[in-house]
Amino acid sequence: MTTVMSSSNTLIVGSISLDTIETVSDRKESLLGGSATYATIAAAKSSDVHLVGIIGDDFPPKGIQILEESTADLSNLEQKKGKTFSWGGKYAKDWDNRETLFTELGVFKEFNPILTEQNKAASTVFLANIHPALQLSVLNQCSKRKYVIIDTMNLWIDTEREKLKEVISFCDVLLINEFEAEQFTRRKYHDDQGTVLQALGPQNIIIKCGSKGAKLYSGHRLDTIGVFPIKNVIDPTGAGDAFGGGIASSLANGENMIESIINGSALASLTIEGFGIDTVYNSSINEIEKRKEHLRTTLNS
Ligand code: AMP
Repeated sequence: MTTVMSSSNTLIVGSISLDTIETVSDRKESLLGGSATYATIAAAKSSDVHLVGIIGDDFPPKGIQILEESTADLSNLEQKKGKTFSWGGKYAKDWDNRETLFTELGVFKEFNPILTEQNKAASTVFLANIHPALQLSVLNQCSKRKYVIIDTMNLWIDTEREKLKEVISFCDVLLINEFEAEQFTRRKYHDDQGTVLQALGPQNIIIKCGSKGAKLYSGHRLDTIGVFPIKNVIDPTGAGDAFGGGIASSLANGENMIESIINGSALASLTIEGFGIDTVYNSSINEIEKRKEHLRTTLNS
């Protein structure tokens, strides 16, 4: 893995998982996954990552090695007796539909992180997809936060709407896919969804539109960014998390929203080219830069 030496820090909280993935042609068990894992591996390409998460005593040594290599600080990684969070997903032929086969919280049920002094001082915080109460608890401990990015999923929109609204109200950037945006706002059109979501607090709403790219609603402005075309999608799991990790690390580096989305999109395109974390983990800075060059040409086109 190649990482760029950097003095910028990104604090990331989310799930660390052992995933089971089924596609039409393949099935893999116990893959290293989770929202925080993908986000960390993506963000580590250009910033120092401080990871907040929990694993069980079944977590493989290879996974620990990857987390160690991808982070600058694991002082808030807990390992407890019990099972690591696990999730199973099954993709349909067109990749557009994903069915959740199971979600087992395992040690996440008892996770109540108390941030170390160093992590409390984080200025860029990425709340990757996890229960909104946990996102809020981490956020409340970050007294020096300057930039807060949040991602979520349909499950929390269904079951924890009020808590989710509360945590969103403290955020600067909301990442949400187009189906979740419709579910959350009960509005059909992206422009209306952007307006409703901005009214919750964040000035920047990024609606993720899968293979169609992403839309950024920032103040009164709308920008669109396309995708780096991938001929052979292998496993889309984690694309949204890598997208978020790439955005967070670029913002930590002082880049603007558009450049941050371009970085996130490049990392997302790498994620879907292989099963689990492999392709994004092994990607070179040169390859990421090449993809970013292409993505810049798609801005508002
Ligand atoms: P994405 O494909 O970007 O939506 O993210 C997929 C990752 O999210 C997988 O690696 C899962 O382990 C993780 N995940 C799935 N469901 C949940 C959940 N309820 N809470 C936290 N992480 C989850």
